[in-house]
Amino acid sequence: MTWDTIILGAGAAGMMCATQCGGRTLVLDHAKAAGEKIRISGGGRCNFTNIYAGPENFLSGNPHFCKSALSRYTQWDFIELVAAHGIAYHEKTLGQLFCDTSAKEIISMLHAEMTKAGAELWLETSVINVGHDGTVYSVTVEASGKRQILTCTNLVLATGGKSIPKMGATGLAYDIARQFGLSVTDTRAGLVPFTFSDGRFKDISGVAHPVRATANGTQFDEAMLFTHRGLSGPAMLQISSYWHEGQPISIDLFPDNDPFEELRTRRQDYGRRNLTTELATLLPTRLVDHLGQHMDLSGNLADQSDTRLRALCDDLKSWQLSPSGTEGYRTAEVTLGGIDTNDLSSKTMEAKTRNGLFAIGEAVDVTGWLGGFNFQWAWSSGWAAGQAISERS
Ligand SMILES: Cc1cc2nc3c(=O)[nH]c(=O)nc-3n(C[C@H](O)[C@H](O)[C@H](O)COP(=O)(O)OP(=O)(O)OC[C@H]3O[C@@H](n4cnc5c(N)ncnc54)[C@H](O)[C@@H]3O)c2cc1C
Repeated sequence: MTWDTIILGAGAAGMMCATQCGGRTLVLDHAKAAGEKIRISGGGRCNFTNIYAGPENFLSGNPHFCKSALSRYTQWDFIELVAAHGIAYHEKTLGQLFCDTSAKEIISMLHAEMTKAGAELWLETSVINVGHDGTVYSVTVEASGKRQILTCTNLVLATGGKSIPKMGATGLAYDIARQFGLSVTDTRAGLVPFTFSDGRFKDISGVAHPVRATANGTQFDEAMLFTHRGLSGPAMLQISSYWHEGQPISIDLFPDNDPFEELRTRRQDYGRRNLTTELATLLPTRLVDHLGQHMDLSGNLADQSDTRLRALCDDLKSWQLSPSGTEGYRTAEVTLGGIDTNDLSSKTMEAKTRNGLFAIGEAVDVTGWLGGFNFQWAWSSGWAAGQAISERS
């Protein structure tokens, strides 16, 4: 069977690409349904883009690489598509757009656009191997126990990263990229909770507090959540993408102010009150109890000299924690690293040394922050490859 384009992976990027390619386009996926990560994303409501999306919201070996695709198919283009399909949405926080009803609406929209473009979708189809004779790619696939060889002029790698293997994530795109001489940068789990092997936060599991989290010179002001196994919540997920094993993270428990003057004033007015009681008016009580096990919070306010109060406030504004690790790919929202952007055209996403081979979405070494940025990259990179393919035919 001969196709103009075969897209491996019916996720966000693959489906978007298929809406643009034109010609005879086939999308293959080993899963039972297309867009499974879209379906579960954003708590079932899909945070499908971010109104503030820009290159600064992405990590990559080459921070400039994402600029072209993001500027040619922007968040506003995707929002227009969503609106044209009558999908109601709202901004939750920080520019994050979610469906009012269900993430399934985004999947249905992509299905409808793929059908309009004449693209075919084969599910529950395994890719056995891929070859290239210099002109045409061959893809050996197996479905319902039957093998067949398909050929195509354009082969698009859109099988995503390694996150959540239970949902069918594999390293297929990396393997094929390597097979054709492209480099793959080291990969690791991103947007992932931290673990502490001593289970030190068990006593405050479920407590959330707004913080400023800093690692490797990058900081995020968002909520932190203590869990049985460690630390989660948006601030921790965000900073996990910048953290490397063995490094500390710094937590500012008072991101918007310094409690020093406040505590000094209270010392004058309520000197006989316990320091912990006063702190519990500024921080969750259970967190204060927990901190008391690790810091000296004994005594009344009147017992605290300026020097002691200053040192305490410094500790609370720069709480140093060294995670044992992260939850890894099992729960990570994304995979950092991937197909080396040096080997791809930033305009078309085509391999520089291999005509007709494209890589898009999370498989590429471009990773967004939490907040709709990863889907925007999937839409933008998928669109860029699809456009390049359609212009060529
Ligand atoms: C729980 C969760 C919530 C998320 N929420 C959000 C969010 O709200 N907003 C946001 O921007 N991002 C979110 N993300 C990230 C986002 O889902 C991904 O960045 C995005 O889906 C990447 O798109 P993709 O098309 O590159 O890969 P994917 O969507 O992962 O699609 C890859 C496809 O390839 C298929 N595949 C893989 N291996 C093979 C193989 N060997 N053979 C055949 N097919 C294969 C898979 O079945 C899948 O359908 C979330 C991720 C997770 C895990």
